[in-house]
Amino acid sequence: MIDTTKIILAGEGGQGIQTIAKVITEVAAEQGLDVSYIPVFGVEQRGTPSVAFIILSHEKIYYPRFDSADYAIILQKRAVASVLAYINKKTKVVFDSSTVSVRDLPDEAIHSFGIPATQIATEKFTPKAFNLIVAGKLSRVLNLDEDQVWQKIEKLLGKKFKTPEIKEKSRQAYLSGRKYIFELKDFSRPTFQPATGKIIIKNAEKTAQILPERCKGCGICIVKCPVGALKFSDTLGVFATPVPEIDLEKCIACGNCFRFCPDGAIAVEKNKKLK
Ligand code: SF4
Ligand code: SF4
Repeated sequence: MIDTTKIILAGEGGQGIQTIAKVITEVAAEQGLDVSYIPVFGVEQRGTPSVAFIILSHEKIYYPRFDSADYAIILQKRAVASVLAYINKKTKVVFDSSTVSVRDLPDEAIHSFGIPATQIATEKFTPKAFNLIVAGKLSRVLNLDEDQVWQKIEKLLGKKFKTPEIKEKSRQAYLSGRKYIFELKDFSRPTFQPATGKIIIKNAEKTAQILPERCKGCGICIVKCPVGALKFSDTLGVFATPVPEIDLEKCIACGNCFRFCPDGAIAVEKNKKLK
């Protein structure tokens, strides 16, 4: 972390924006940093805007002026408008690519990093844990202690972990964010190199082909697949967003994914070898 770091977190009521902000600022304060945290939200209910302005500093913060963000964390498409004034070409933008597209971001957001947090949380952990994936990633980037952050999450969210299983899944979601395979420094639209070549997956009846250099990670194919044969993988596409992977055992070769893909990035053929 540089001497002073400014972070804006934006989403909607019910997404845990203020809880993440409290976790980050309380742990940073315990680690000896000077901290400013200004919450802005409407009535606390799902759907209303919720924004947190955070400043962490190794020096005394005399005046918490927040004019631009070093990091902007966006958890909802409707929240993009809340951060526009604070994003410049140096801001590192982390967004939930399950709900926000890179196309929703301003042109200044050239360092953007999509985590399909809602998708990962729903598939691997528990749907509500998507914010813990983001909290994990952010706390790692800020060099906040892994155990201390989890203890703070437990303290603030403990009552919501109704069973030991939910608590453990939530912890795993947090740790997955900490260990998310990609580093922020790798994610820059102008310099990022997507995975190259064709990804070919075959079984006895079908062959699937995915072209990461074309895939924008929009997720349309995943939504349109009638049998749930597609999900996001760890391979990155053209905007540093994950490309889909196919379970050919589930796939019925209906053709929806490649009919709806706006970029010709995916194809499935039945009983025919793709070139
Ligand atoms: S061909 Fe149809 S079933 Fe197979 S992955 Fe594409 S949308 Fe899903
Ligand atoms: S393969 Fe096409 S539809 Fe699927 S995520 Fe990539 S760009 Fe979107």
